[in-house]
Amino acid sequence: MIVRIAGFSQESVTDGPGLCSVLFFQGCHHACTGCHNPQSWGINKGEEIEIEDLIQRFQFTPLLSGFTFSGGEPFLQPEAAACIAEYVKSKELNLWIYTGYTWEELLSHLPEPGFQKLIRLADGIVEGPYRKELRDLSLPYRGSSNQRIILPEASLRQKQVVLWSES
Ligand code: SF4
Repeated sequence: MIVRIAGFSQESVTDGPGLCSVLFFQGCHHACTGCHNPQSWGINKGEEIEIEDLIQRFQFTPLLSGFTFSGGEPFLQPEAAACIAEYVKSKELNLWIYTGYTWEELLSHLPEPGFQKLIRLADGIVEGPYRKELRDLSLPYRGSSNQRIILPEASLRQKQVVLWSES
């Protein structure tokens, strides 16, 4: 299976709890004003790569505690993202996904191929578009106050939004 990516960062301490690798997916249609990564918008840009080849770039060092999907919009390539997520979870890493969709929008896509699998493989979903007027640098792991960090498995089970908290 092929995936289109904008880039890969082996180590980050700002894109999820602990030390995590970050995979940036290519393609985003949310067009948030003030987006941190507008070069990731074009769906025909970036790098197209076989997932088998991509995962050769990942280094699962002992210090690594997590893996983050960012963008771009990872949910534009749900089946490819779910395939990579499955591999990352086999390494027992915490998986977070950044998306410009709200949680409610993600739920409306659940029947589509890959969506539910990807949501269920994630340990945390940072959801919602970046809104410049709600920018808040004091918030951990997100840029604006409309964005929530959701625990997907618990939220699906309890049929209500369950939020991640740092403590
Ligand atoms: S969802 Fe993320 S990548 Fe897409 S436009 Fe908004 S901030 Fe940029």
